[in-house]
Amino acid sequence: MPELPEVETVKRTLNQLIVGKTIEQVDVRLRRIIQRPEEPDEFALLLQGQTFHGVDRRGKFLLLRTDDFTLVSHLRMEGRYGVYDKNDPMELHTHVVFHFTDGSELRYKDVRQFGTMHLFPKGTELNEQPLKKLGLEPLDETFTLDAFIRKLEGRTTKIKPLLLNQEYIVGIGNIYVDESLFAAGIHPEREAGSLSRKELAALYEAIIQTLNDAVAAGGSSIKSYVNGQGEIGMFQHQLQMYGRKGEPCQHCGHEIEKTVVAGRGTHFCPKCQPLKRKNARKAGA
Ligand SMILES: [Zn+2]
Repeated sequence: MPELPEVETVKRTLNQLIVGKTIEQVDVRLRRIIQRPEEPDEFALLLQGQTFHGVDRRGKFLLLRTDDFTLVSHLRMEGRYGVYDKNDPMELHTHVVFHFTDGSELRYKDVRQFGTMHLFPKGTELNEQPLKKLGLEPLDETFTLDAFIRKLEGRTTKIKPLLLNQEYIVGIGNIYVDESLFAAGIHPEREAGSLSRKELAALYEAIIQTLNDAVAAGGSSIKSYVNGQGEIGMFQHQLQMYGRKGEPCQHCGHEIEKTVVAGRGTHFCPKCQPLKRKNARKAGA
């Protein structure tokens, strides 16, 4: 499933490919992708004659900006965008086609059909679902250490599910949570409220570093992820935990273990990420 770095890569690619293009017509071939307005015909009609001005991201959502509207698109498991010539053969699982006046087309493909598109009048999109209740944006300047600590403090939940909860912090999924917790030396089942300020600071830095590294590498290609230009992301070669069960930890050499936390497969190093904090009490005894 694409996570923040992959969606960020798609965003950057789309900004290179569709800005300035004007929509002549929209073809909705699978109506369930269109969540708002209710009628796909209306969706198509509203977008007719609109020009794309830019693409932003909020969490794992893409925000495609036109003259009068914001198209909020979520790729879910397998959604992909590509820009094609109108004469290119239509590939299987192409569900929405934006025909441009210059003869090119933006096509949305989705084998699993879980992706969604919501169309809002420009400027109203943040007040409504699905963007309304989203949490901190980890690559934004508003993501400060204090804001991060305020979100987690006093929580009795395990740290991993909390980091996966989009109402606390957006865009980090299973892969990057495991990587960030390893980088910070924190066991995924630690109670969030039990983390010291020092540990929270390490985790905060680890999240930013992990996501930035992944964005720089173009996102992971686990589960056949491909960005908007057909390039395959390279970050999977840098993953230190995810998918490495049984391999030696690159930091200490201990065998990497896999367990299930809150229903999700979870990789960790039991030596680098002890469940009990190496506590201060011992030193005084
Ligand atoms: Zn280790």
